[in-house]
This record gives sequence, structure tokens and C-alpha cells, in this order.
Amino acid sequence: MELNKKGLLIVISGPSGAGKGTICKEILKKNDLWISVSATTRSPRDGEVEGENYYFLTKDEFIKKINEDDFLEYAEVYGNYYGTPKSKVIEKLNDGKDVILEIDIQGALKVKENYAEGLFIFILPPSMEELKNRIIKRGSETQESLMTRFKSAYKEINYVSKYNYAVVNDDLNTAVEKIKSIITAEKCSVERIKNNIFSKERLIHEQLND
Ligand code: ADP
Ligand code: 5GP
Repeated sequence: MELNKKGLLIVISGPSGAGKGTICKEILKKNDLWISVSATTRSPRDGEVEGENYYFLTKDEFIKKINEDDFLEYAEVYGNYYGTPKSKVIEKLNDGKDVILEIDIQGALKVKENYAEGLFIFILPPSMEELKNRIIKRGSETQESLMTRFKSAYKEINYVSKYNYAVVNDDLNTAVEKIKSIITAEKCSVERIKNNIFSKERLIHEQLND
């Protein structure tokens, strides 16, 4: 019997290059989760696919969506706009699906203001040196963008205290296992499920329907 009917909103953030995207891809391979595809005004990188990695929008298109209240949150990150389309996330959570948002720190804090029951996980690099190496190795940034991202990381790391959990992405498999354990534990949290546990009517209904 499932005690939690509403899906869990899992917010994964941390500095650029910490490994958020890599970790999310691994988690999605074997877990029944839904990841939100964000909209952005940044240009696609080699190999990025529209609707799969991002919805790539012009600035005007993005602003139109802001004005139409289409975003759960949005932020300007490293000189471009990024936002989480709202309706699909709400629909999935209401359907009982667990949803991952891989978003920056400003966005995560906005989500926390309106949806404190989310699970907020911060991904840390093993060291600043390794963070820089990873961004360079990814080969996705110009020298300028690399430095913007790297300098921002020093400030961003201070926000770790606003999160529920912090995971150092040293060995990838270990980091992925830790996040899976956090999600599993969180779904058994009494705080999270107590409204369901103590609803006698609901328990009877569930037992009859199991
Ligand atoms: P983010 O999404 O946080 O910006 P990425 O997932 O794109 O970061 O990872 C940045 C780079 O670091 C990529 O080239 C990725 O292959 C590499 N990477 C990610 N995790 C690890 C790890 N645990 N060990 C070594 N390299 C990693
Ligand atoms: P990148 O350009 O490397 O794909 O992403 C840059 C940063 O934007 C990353 O920290 C990433 O997590 C964040 N990001 C991606 N999508 C969103 C989103 O929808 N909202 C917010 N606030 N940040 C996002």
C-alpha cells in the first residue's frame, strides 16, 4: 500500500560542473521518476536536443511565458534565462509521480518558498580544482563563460545550508547511490506521510482497493 499519494518534488542543484546532469541521467536509468525539461534562452550545445535537454526559446518568447505565468520558477543564470514549465510538474505530482527539477540555486530557493515540502539536495564537487577541471573537460564553455561559472561557484556553495541534504560527487556511483537512499528514506518520513497515516478513512479505502 502506498502511503504517499502525491509525488515527491526532488530539487537537485549546485554549481555548474558539479555533476548534476550526469547524476540525474544515472538516477533516471533505473528509477521511476519524471524529470522536468526546462526552458532556456541559452544556445544549444553540440548534441543537445530541443524538448529533451531544454526548450530553447528566444528572449521574447521567454518573457511572454513569464507574463503568462507559465513558470513554476525562473531565474537569470550566468547571463541567460532558465525556467521550469509549471503545468506539467503540477500534473505529474498530482498523479503521484516523483518529479526531479535540476535547477540553479536561485530557482531552488524560489521553489522552497512556495513548496517547502520538496526535497532539496545540493551537489558539491570534491574540490574547486576538480570543479574547474570538469567544466573544462566538458568542453561546453568559452573561456569567459567558464570563468563566470567558476567564480559563481564560490558564492553558490554558501547556500548549501538552505538545503535538506548535501552530496559530494566524488565517485559518481557512490553519489548516485546516496541520492537514491535519500529519496527512499524521505518517502518513509513520518512527517511527510502522517496526514495519510492518520486518516482512518483513507486507510480503509486503500485496503479495500489494494
Ligand atoms: P552540471 O550538470 O552540474 O553542470 P555535468 O553533469 O555536466 O555538471 O558534469 C560536468 C562534467 O563533469 C561532465 O563532463 C561530466 O562527465 C563530468 N563528471 C560528472 N560527474 C563526475 C564524477 N563523479 N567524476 C568525474 N567526472 C564527472
Ligand atoms: P547549463 O547552461 O549548464 O545547462 O545550466 C546552467 C545552470 O542553470 C545550471 O545550474 C542548471 O541547473 C540551471 N538550470 C537549468 N534549468 C533551470 C531552470 O529551469 N531554472 C533554474 N532556475 N535554473 C535552471
